[in-house]
Amino acid sequence: MPLDEDPSRAEFHQWSDKKAAGSSGSNASRPKFSDVDFTAKGEPRGQVSFTGLKTLWFNTGTLCNIACQGCYIESSPRNDRLAYISRDEVRSFLDEAERLAGPELEIGFTGGEPFMNPNLLGMLEDSLRRGFRVLVLTNAMLPMQHRKAELIDLDWHFPAKLSIRVSLDHYDQAGHEKVRGPKTWHPALEGLRWLSREGFDLSVAGRLMGDESENDLRAGYASLFAREGVMVSAWDPNRLILFPEMADNDDVPEISQSCWEILGKSPADIMCATSRMVVKRKEAMRPVVVSCTLLPYDSLFEMGTTLDQSLGTVKLNHPHCSRFCVLGGASCSHKS
Ligand code: SF4
Ligand code: SF4
Repeated sequence: MPLDEDPSRAEFHQWSDKKAAGSSGSNASRPKFSDVDFTAKGEPRGQVSFTGLKTLWFNTGTLCNIACQGCYIESSPRNDRLAYISRDEVRSFLDEAERLAGPELEIGFTGGEPFMNPNLLGMLEDSLRRGFRVLVLTNAMLPMQHRKAELIDLDWHFPAKLSIRVSLDHYDQAGHEKVRGPKTWHPALEGLRWLSREGFDLSVAGRLMGDESENDLRAGYASLFAREGVMVSAWDPNRLILFPEMADNDDVPEISQSCWEILGKSPADIMCATSRMVVKRKEAMRPVVVSCTLLPYDSLFEMGTTLDQSLGTVKLNHPHCSRFCVLGGASCSHKS
């Protein structure tokens, strides 16, 4: 169902507007997202308790070969705010993950463009050798295509363990390049076709954009995949994942503890209940663990320097929490 037709969401906005209209006194003047414990209306802020590690993400660094409009992490060929994480740094978290979680744990790699990090293939191998399932988010352009031989080798040695998710913002060139810039369509398609031909476990990340319905988007992708020989089912929401638009300028409601019941949602279904991400800030001595893939820069969402330290409760004190997770329904990794 398209997000803008979600009845629970519409109901929540009505409820939220009524609350805002009815609120008065000192609480009404507190800016939104200014108090970690309370919303602007003075209600206890919504929070998410950790329920067990299912996905451990590594941000490989923010450098990217392209600069997409609205990239949530503002990656570009010049943004190195998050440095390339090293193979040894990743290994120490993998050691800890082995102790804390079973082999069912999924290890995710995101960037920037992960294949820009010269250590990526080694990190994938270290994760796969431990028996973890591994997911890599990529734009499938030249940085990935330069590593074809090593990727085939890894997939052969660790069958059914390595998955690749390719970002393709729209099913036509104009829609994709509107976000990603000129000359990004053909290289991405070439990478996608190659991955499919070689039999990689493959999914595609697209974007809900404009007025196009989810159904129309899936139909558009389905005909593209058929034409290009890409073996991905556009009708399977686990194979074609459509993420909400990353617009940053609209006013969003805050999430209080009472919202869960009103929205009919459970905090246990939110990404930070089961995921963490390791990031290495530029010039930092060591990596830190943050709550999720969506908030790599905000120090309020830094959870510690080890996985063990990071497993506490997350207070939803950021517009992304409302916009993308609780109201928008983003439940897994962000696209690359
Ligand atoms: S943005 Fe991150 S911290 Fe906020 S609700 Fe989503 S997953 Fe949790
Ligand atoms: S969305 Fe992905 S491909 Fe685009 S700039 Fe950001 S990290 Fe790079």
